[in-house]
Amino acid sequence: MNLAIKIIIGLLAGIAVGFLLNIFSPDLFKNLDTYLFSPLGKIFLNLINMLVVPIVFFSITLGAAGIGDPKKLSRIGIKTIVYFLSTTAVAIIIGLALSLLIQPGNIGEFNTSNADYQAEKAPSIGETLLNIFPKNPIEALATGNMLQIIAFALFVGFGIAMLGEKAGMVKKLFEQGNDLMMYLVGLVMKFAPYGTFGLIASAIGSQGWDAFKAMLLYVFVVVLALAIQFTVVYGSAVGFLAKRNPLSFYKGFFPAMIIGFSTSSSNASLPVSMNSAQKNLKVPEQISSFVQPLGATINMDGTAIMQGVATVFIAQVYSHNLTIAELLTVVLTAVLASIGTAGVPGVGLILLAMVLNSVNLPVEGIALILGIDRILDMLRTAVNITGDAACAVIVAESEKKKEPAQKAG
Ligand code: ASP
Repeated sequence: MNLAIKIIIGLLAGIAVGFLLNIFSPDLFKNLDTYLFSPLGKIFLNLINMLVVPIVFFSITLGAAGIGDPKKLSRIGIKTIVYFLSTTAVAIIIGLALSLLIQPGNIGEFNTSNADYQAEKAPSIGETLLNIFPKNPIEALATGNMLQIIAFALFVGFGIAMLGEKAGMVKKLFEQGNDLMMYLVGLVMKFAPYGTFGLIASAIGSQGWDAFKAMLLYVFVVVLALAIQFTVVYGSAVGFLAKRNPLSFYKGFFPAMIIGFSTSSSNASLPVSMNSAQKNLKVPEQISSFVQPLGATINMDGTAIMQGVATVFIAQVYSHNLTIAELLTVVLTAVLASIGTAGVPGVGLILLAMVLNSVNLPVEGIALILGIDRILDMLRTAVNITGDAACAVIVAESEKKKEPAQKAG
């Protein structure tokens, strides 16, 4: 049987088993979760996380060595960042607009009296930008600091390109290392149906579904905005900017979406999302290996949507009317805040605390959405990585057009 179908079966079985146990036998769920679901999920998570740092390092180095020309590299960099910032801004505007229209925080009763949430400290934007250059590259690799790894890999790749034959062996080493890692992704993915089953059964089974009822309208607005971003924004970006068939884009990237959904982590999904983009969507390695790791860190459209909706929701619950200037502040803070934080589970809430602070809304309001955020995190992560892939496809197509023109000129 085709692997993608097996993974879908794992996903659906995980949803069904998680739900049924949650409703009919919470005690049995606890045991099964401890001894079966969580371990299965954890093994799978570790296996793919094991590949993230080497893949990013090898492939970006090779990409930069292959491109060689710093002008081309900065052209790709600028296109990517402009795309990332604009789609994130569009995403948060969709979130804000829908929640101002549907007003999820004005309908229903929300108990704010015992709301309690301690915000973790998010890095400031200045700090992040200053810290892009690693003082110690081994430390960056050891701690998985994505922006620093990207910066170091770009330097190494550029050096390999400049030294040419002199660094031929190093280049070969990176090429073979990259092939080896891609092979391991294929191997680890054989475990994906079971891992997905474990992760999903554990997440669905441990939800307090009562919390969902009270928050139904909020969930509805977030999901609606995510769906619009996913279908309309990415569909038209891929269709009009890359002139590709959006349906084949979604189909080709589907395996990665499921991994994003089940792991709730753009970072952990990287090995699979790069693999899907390169093999199924035919994005050249050089471009995929640069755009997608960068996107996993700085481009989180789904997360931006949640922040937009959550900010308006919390403002409504606390009867605070957001002015136009405050709404603009929300857009700006949400776009900038996403730059410095890694794509790992739950990071969206840390970013949200920053956004709420920027317009003086009570951070404790996050307590209201905390209970249902785990499930929404799954959905928005799938959207986050699809946005990165759409960008990779668009940049790849635009570079394709450039190449023949340059060769002719
Ligand atoms: N889990 C998300 C990601 O990794 C980030 C978030 O919204 O919490 O992309």
